[in-house]
Amino acid sequence: MPLRGWKTELARLGLLLVVAAFFGLILDLLSWFMIGTVLAYALWSINQLRLLNRWLFKGRGQEPPEAAGLWGQVFDTLSQMQRENERVTARLRASIEHLRSSFASMADAVVMLTPDGNIEWSNQAAHTLLGLRHPDDNGRLLVNLLREPEFIRFFESGDYRERLSIASPVNGQIKLSISVSVFGQASRLLFARDVTRTVQLEQMRKDFVANVSHELRTPLTVITGYLEMLADQPGNTVPVARALDQMSEQSRRMQSLIQDLMTLSRLEAVPSARHADSIALKPLMDSIRDEIQLAAVGERKLSIECDEGLRLQGDFPEIQSAFSNLASNAARYTGPGDSITLRWYADRDHAYFEVQDTGIGIEPQHVPRLTERFYRVDQSRSTETGGTGLGLAIVKHILLRHHAELRIRSYPGRGSTFCCVFPLSAVTRRDA
Ligand code: ADP
Repeated sequence: MPLRGWKTELARLGLLLVVAAFFGLILDLLSWFMIGTVLAYALWSINQLRLLNRWLFKGRGQEPPEAAGLWGQVFDTLSQMQRENERVTARLRASIEHLRSSFASMADAVVMLTPDGNIEWSNQAAHTLLGLRHPDDNGRLLVNLLREPEFIRFFESGDYRERLSIASPVNGQIKLSISVSVFGQASRLLFARDVTRTVQLEQMRKDFVANVSHELRTPLTVITGYLEMLADQPGNTVPVARALDQMSEQSRRMQSLIQDLMTLSRLEAVPSARHADSIALKPLMDSIRDEIQLAAVGERKLSIECDEGLRLQGDFPEIQSAFSNLASNAARYTGPGDSITLRWYADRDHAYFEVQDTGIGIEPQHVPRLTERFYRVDQSRSTETGGTGLGLAIVKHILLRHHAELRIRSYPGRGSTFCCVFPLSAVTRRDA
């Protein structure tokens, strides 16, 4: 709020000048009196400034100097602002202390970093999980202390959308999940969580699925074999023949389910694919077309559009499995008379393998969940068509291992397009 005393101050100066003019006129020394008065006023003001300066820089916390008029108001207002500032600073300091003490007590490691990547503060868990000592390591570059190349790459990339999983530098048995967030002017906050137990449980789950599928495979093969043999026996009554047929069909479904579970387990067990094969797509697409033609009930109009010079670098059995999964879905979710197009092409940014069909399509709310294991839009339809609910999960896994992604466009009643988008680094051109 502006100070109101300036009018009084002007009046005071005016009065002084009137009095000076009065005596100046009487004594016939008007100019001298006027100049003397203005000088005296200026000297007094400078003295007030001197007092203010001394108080501001030396007398913090003391009462402001006494002064009359506008200067008095200036001193009082500054003193009030100073007290308010001190209150706000104390409140902020208390909040920071509160935050620090809550960070300090966290089970997760917390490290505050300056924009240059120097450690500003770290908690006790950062000592246990990352080996950082507070306050000894404060001011040191984090990447000089955590020297794991994977961590340095992650930290220096500046892309912190994903978390990083690494082993603790203190104890290799401890698995850490690390996240970094940027705040203020490029300061960073690093969190490291001990996820050893979760990783162990996840590994147990994977092992369990792999073992169960493996153990179930042999007995199921025996059962399926005997069922087929029994079904072929002459003289079965109609109900028995029907029962045997259904049992054979169900055991075949179980076999494909186990096969898919084993494929998924295998894909999970080895994190990255071999990229050793240079795959010519035309022969692969031809064999997929033949496969669909054999499997599909009723006629489908099948066409292939292929950029033949464009080769895909990858793991042939995996790529074949992913592409034929998409194509067999297209065959299963279309009817006689529908068309299916397989496409392979590239533009300036990516290479694309596309399976487009004019089948039943999918409601938009299901699309984001299709690649989840056992997610089905219509349970009865999938069972009827012999699906396991694992096909698209397998496709997604294979594509991830090839640094590719699955894009799905679908319109209910009009059909779907499943498109595998590969980075250009995964393709080579070999023109005939
Ligand atoms: P499933 O073995 O049941 O087909 P998938 O993982 O291959 O399992 O597919 C998941 C679900 O996605 C399917 O149950 C089906 O509802 C839907 N789906 C997949 N492909 C198509 C398609 N081409 N047209 C319509 N729906 C599809």
